[in-house]
Amino acid sequence: MTEFLVYGVGFFDWFVGRLYAIVNFFFYSGSRVYWLFLITSLFFAALSYRRYINNSTFKLREFMQFVVPKHIYFHPSAIVDYKLFIVNRFVRPVTALTAFVSTAAIGVYTGELLSSSFGTNWQGFEINVWTVLCFTLLYALASDFVTFLNHALHHKLSLLWPIHSLHHSAEVMMPLTVYRKHPIYGVIKFLIRAPLLGAVQGLTIFLFMGKVDPLTIIGVNMFHAVFLLAGSCLRHSHIWFSFGPILNYVLISPAHHQIHHSARIEHRDCNFGEVFAIWDYVFGTLILPSEDIRKNLVFGIALNAPQRHPTLTRAYLEPLQSVFHVARQYVRQIRKKPVFNKP
Ligand SMILES: [Zn+2]
Ligand SMILES: [Zn+2]
Repeated sequence: MTEFLVYGVGFFDWFVGRLYAIVNFFFYSGSRVYWLFLITSLFFAALSYRRYINNSTFKLREFMQFVVPKHIYFHPSAIVDYKLFIVNRFVRPVTALTAFVSTAAIGVYTGELLSSSFGTNWQGFEINVWTVLCFTLLYALASDFVTFLNHALHHKLSLLWPIHSLHHSAEVMMPLTVYRKHPIYGVIKFLIRAPLLGAVQGLTIFLFMGKVDPLTIIGVNMFHAVFLLAGSCLRHSHIWFSFGPILNYVLISPAHHQIHHSARIEHRDCNFGEVFAIWDYVFGTLILPSEDIRKNLVFGIALNAPQRHPTLTRAYLEPLQSVFHVARQYVRQIRKKPVFNKP
């Protein structure tokens, strides 16, 4: 809707463009449900099938029932996911923000600021395989930490939690659950990520003195590509897959994220990471996958909690009502506290 309102695109062109965007989601490599990621996830699903369902013979019908079970894909929670996925393509307030400010613009500004402050004699790092590899890794770590931070803040700040709780109220998970998000979530995520990532991009511009476009390092970020190809679509699914006892400390596997979605109180606020598990390890929020967790995994906000978002309308309205409620409580508390202590 933002292109329609901000850029003055004709309504019909805008509407057709949005319909095209829905279909294009499966053919665009920037999407989490890109066809290649779905196919590679199928490979990891086959490994899970062999391990937990049938390790002697491969039965296609049994495998398909395991991968796409009707009770999950037609569950009321999944129906809300489909609706949110479609309607969110039309309601994108974050696009309006990017019309005024972008991560790249902040990056260029930061780069110029650093150059004018410290770079009078600085010629920039030499470009070779090692410097580019080194900065690709550093950018991947910085970007992943910003994602971790944004996610952790949405869990820990009572004003942000209602917005993110929509993602966690999913009672069943399938690949489109990754898009079970309130439109406001995208805005907050952008406001947290853009300045921090812009600063990192600016630092890259400064360190290479413009000899390399940061996007050639950042755009083809192999760490993120590996993450997306390594069964990323199983994160939001019932199919359990982890990377093994050692890598589970380093990388976030589908099983890690499924534990993040667990309704059990002992799993609350864990595994915030996207690619690397090291941030959760450092901040003490890492819960490693185990057989016991796999067997008793239930998805949702809390065990036996009533569904707060049973319909698309409630999915859009309830988080806003809850934020308003929390904000009002804050204001009341501030009013109660005296500004100055009376003598
Ligand atoms: Zn979360
Ligand atoms: Zn999730």
